[in-house]
Amino acid sequence: MCSASVSLARLLSGPETWAKSFPIADGPRQSPIDIVPTQAQHDPALKQLKLKYDPATAKSILNNGHSFQVDFADDEDNSTLSGGPITGIYRLRQFHFHWGSSDDKGSEHTIAGTKFPCELHLVHWNTKYPSFGEAASQPDGLAVVGVFLKIGAANPSLQKVLDALDDIQAKGQQTTFPNFDPKTLLPGALDFWTYDGSLTTPPLLESVTWIVLKDPISVSPAQMAKFRSLLFTPEGEPPCCMVDNYRPPQPLKGRKVCASFK
Ligand SMILES: [Zn+2]
Repeated sequence: MCSASVSLARLLSGPETWAKSFPIADGPRQSPIDIVPTQAQHDPALKQLKLKYDPATAKSILNNGHSFQVDFADDEDNSTLSGGPITGIYRLRQFHFHWGSSDDKGSEHTIAGTKFPCELHLVHWNTKYPSFGEAASQPDGLAVVGVFLKIGAANPSLQKVLDALDDIQAKGQQTTFPNFDPKTLLPGALDFWTYDGSLTTPPLLESVTWIVLKDPISVSPAQMAKFRSLLFTPEGEPPCCMVDNYRPPQPLKGRKVCASFK
């Protein structure tokens, strides 16, 4: 019943229908994309990524009905991203994930067609603008770091996040999530691909500098199952499992993908 409901929900409100309400869905810099490593250009001018995260800025965790997100205090420069392809300082706003109904799909970006079971997005906004809301519609307003999750050993840092999901099973549910360092979710090496793209959920604004890390982090099959225990639906409605909440790759339309590594 659950999977049938999911299919119907996706038909009614999924990526296939977004173009009707959001014409930018067919725009020149949509995300995600398929990254073809042999066609990416190594750019020696790209700087090292600098992620400075303060665990004390972690605030809460929310089931927003299409994913779950951990929100951060962003009224000061306490958790920031700089370097890499971006200029200036971007503040961490939230992170969230996309995943599949089975381990053979779920990531938004793909690597030469290869799909991962899950993808983490760390969303930052450019402090040259006064707020996240204003930055979100500017061409250089957002920078999202994407990290692939690959099936392997259980990931203890990820488990801290997954343990909180019991309290936010239904859409709209939120609970506190204090003292968490998102850096513990990153791989050891920070080699990346970068390109100009968009939000992957409506309103699909073309405001994102994408920074997709080459190295994945690990996730166990049991941990993936925990993601799929979340619900798209609010309490009191027939439950519908939150799975396949990813947008498939969009046309490159002549864009250049740069690599920080050879
Ligand atoms: Zn995302």
